Amino acid sequence: MDCILKDINKRRSTSKSNVNCCVYGCNAVMKKNPELLYHRFPTVDQTMLYTDAFGNKVRVKRRVLWVKNIKMGKPVRSHTRVCSRHFTEEDYITPNECKK
Ligand SMILES: [Zn+2]
Repeated sequence: MDCILKDINKRRSTSKSNVNCCVYGCNAVMKKNPELLYHRFPTVDQTMLYTDAFGNKVRVKRRVLWVKNIKMGKPVRSHTRVCSRHFTEEDYITPNECKK
């Protein structure tokens, strides 16, 4: 029992530097899944053109879109990361597309 407790304490002390995915039900941790990318949330002032359900192009805050898509229901903090499991190829914007 003593050993288990010590082990937990050890893990806690190193968890600060350990990155994990914030998405509910996802257990990706950088230590265990180094093959995944861990994305930080976009800053509050980053916007993008988004086509809504009616085909209208609207400028939205990227962070708002992320929160909506992930349905995380938790406040976004500076260390909050989302792993690449929740993105598709199309979600990645190349620098060329950003300039448009
Ligand atoms: Zn994830």
